[in-house]
Amino acid sequence: MQTAIQQNLHSVLAQLPDGVQLVAISKYHPADCIQEAYEAGQRVFGESHEQELSKKHEILPRDIEWHFIGHLQTNKVKYIAPYISMIEAADSVKLLKEINKQALKNERVIDVLLELHLAQEETKFGFSPEQCRQFLDEGEWRNMKGIRICGLMMMASNTDEQQQIEEEFALAYDLFKEFRQTYFADCDYFCKRSWGMSHDYLIATAHGSNMVRVGTRIFGERAYL
Ligand SMILES: *Cc1c(COP(=O)(O)O)cnc(C)c1O
Repeated sequence: MQTAIQQNLHSVLAQLPDGVQLVAISKYHPADCIQEAYEAGQRVFGESHEQELSKKHEILPRDIEWHFIGHLQTNKVKYIAPYISMIEAADSVKLLKEINKQALKNERVIDVLLELHLAQEETKFGFSPEQCRQFLDEGEWRNMKGIRICGLMMMASNTDEQQQIEEEFALAYDLFKEFRQTYFADCDYFCKRSWGMSHDYLIATAHGSNMVRVGTRIFGERAYL
């Protein structure tokens, strides 16, 4: 028999267009819940706190691909560098340099996404379009052999106005296409467009997303302790 989590997971997966990857956001949910989703076939999970992630990583199956989706402090990079599969919210040059350094120390290449700040809230992190363009233009990243920039990530404004959300996703998709053409024309790996959460993932996939980060819709409300 399927658990509620497994049912939710299957209904989200059934809605996703071909080629869209689901990152199951398991922050604040216990390892048992992740195990349930794992047993239903899910392998990619996202967490936003280093300590919580490290504990879960230790006890859960080794073939889980962990994505770090929160704001990551530079002094925490070293703890996740040995095993993290993707750092989705690379939101500053300083952080990218630290990820590069720790990746090289671990003799690996870490996949990252550049986080764009397109939302109205000041509180959100990320590069403005202009900052992102400037960073890519300056080209220092080409010498960072420990990171591989695989695409863009963003969060839409926290609003009920669907049009606002759509405009932000559409802008993100335009920027993705611009950057791919200008800087990554011969890099097949620059292909990830991570936008869309529980309340807007279908709007996101209609506007170019091919990686949705869905938590509540699968695991239920989070218990913030
Ligand atoms: C928590 C979180 C999500 C998932 O949010 P839900 O509304 O629970 O689906 C997605 N992306 C980021 C960056 C988050 O912090």
